[in-house]
Amino acid sequence: AAAAAAPPRLILDLEALQHLDASEAGPLTRYAATIQAQRGDYNGKVLSIRQDDMRTLAVIYDESPTTLTERFISWGVLNPEAKGEVEESSE
Ligand code: C2E
Ligand code: C2E
Repeated sequence: AAAAAAPPRLILDLEALQHLDASEAGPLTRYAATIQAQRGDYNGKVLSIRQDDMRTLAVIYDESPTTLTERFISWGVLNPEAKGEVEESSE
């Protein structure tokens, strides 16, 4: 593909994810594995995800997207630049 697109802004660190406590990271680990399977992309150390996926994960974790984004950053599984990238739903 042409390299015209802006850099992806929500980037999961799949290696850091493996080192987290499964009781907290389990839903995120399963969600990321599902995206990898859908894309047929198993080789990466990072996985770019959609903003919509952070909103879906916020429902799963029963948090606001902003709070969950900050939590994932604090766990070291999401790039710090993601802070402020996920908009709250206005619905
Ligand atoms: P693909 O990458 O092979 O993904 C196939 C299907 O897996 C997608 O169909 C979607 O249903 C699901 N999927 C893959 N990755 C994600 C994800 O990060 N989040 C969610 N929620 N679902 C995911 P879909 O949406 O009909 O897309 C068809 C194809 O269009 C994709 O095939 C991909 O080649 C392209 N595509 C769609 N959106 C994007 C995008 O934001 N960026 C890029 N680079 N390609 C995209
Ligand atoms: P986004 O939806 O927030 O997706 C962010 C990044 O996640 C994408 O960056 C891509 O690296 C990855 N991604 C998301 N969905 C898929 C997917 O289905 N398959 C694969 N292989 N990767 C996926 P990217 O490609 O630079 O796209 C930036 C933004 O451009 C996307 O942000 C989305 O808003 C838009 N976009 C790109 N391709 C498509 C598309 O095929 N359909 C739609 N509806 N939007 C697209």
